[in-house]
Amino acid sequence: MGSASSETVKGLVIREVNFGDNDKLLTLLTEQHGKMTVRGCGVRSHKNKNFAASQLFSYGTYVIAKRKNGGDYIKEADLEENFFALRENLVSLAFASYICELANYISGEENSDEPFLRLVLNTLWAESHGEASPERTKKIKASFELRCACALGFSPELSACSVCGRRGGAELYLDILGGALLCPDCVAKTGHADREGFGGWTRPLVRVSEAAVDAMRYVTRADEARFLSFSLPEPYMDEFANACERYLLGHIGRGFATLDYYKQFERL
Ligand SMILES: [Zn+2]
Repeated sequence: MGSASSETVKGLVIREVNFGDNDKLLTLLTEQHGKMTVRGCGVRSHKNKNFAASQLFSYGTYVIAKRKNGGDYIKEADLEENFFALRENLVSLAFASYICELANYISGEENSDEPFLRLVLNTLWAESHGEASPERTKKIKASFELRCACALGFSPELSACSVCGRRGGAELYLDILGGALLCPDCVAKTGHADREGFGGWTRPLVRVSEAAVDAMRYVTRADEARFLSFSLPEPYMDEFANACERYLLGHIGRGFATLDYYKQFERL
């Protein structure tokens, strides 16, 4: 019995900060404990045996030495996947950085959330495999954002207009904070987003066509391994992307530096 014990975890590096001359502080999103911050001693050196597993986006098995006074550190690491292709394309790299910043914001410490870890891994996998294109990244990003909103407990109710119950219609509105749909008639009756309307209601609404809503329905209901297995004609992709991003950020109530960075490439 020494003062240190060790534990083996599976995890993904979602944040890295240089520390000291040659160390890093790594935030791992783990299967066993949610988020953990550990020290990688000497891992900035190419010669270090744990170098490869101590990079952002690395996924593997980590043996963590636990110390009573904190300062847990990596004893051994075994890399399984580094999603290398993410580094070959600036849009993918910017998107993957946003995925990790969101994951760091959403996940908690001590509590295991395996479905959320799998969502993050499945998303990185999708982005790093297959032919990269800005349209494809846009679809993966929006779907991931919507699944994140669901993971946070904000699943939208998308079956029908939440006021009159009408189903279908070419034009619909997503009430971001209410997590519900409205038809144009009910929007007209209850007051528009930009006007002082019914009951002083000025909640943000996003206009979405039925095709984009169908894609959102699919993403919220699909099995975790298949949430990207849908197609949406290109004219509707921007609506879908805008609705999903605004939906997530509306519920989180903040922006992200990595998202601003990603958007620089989206505009090119
Ligand atoms: Zn209605």
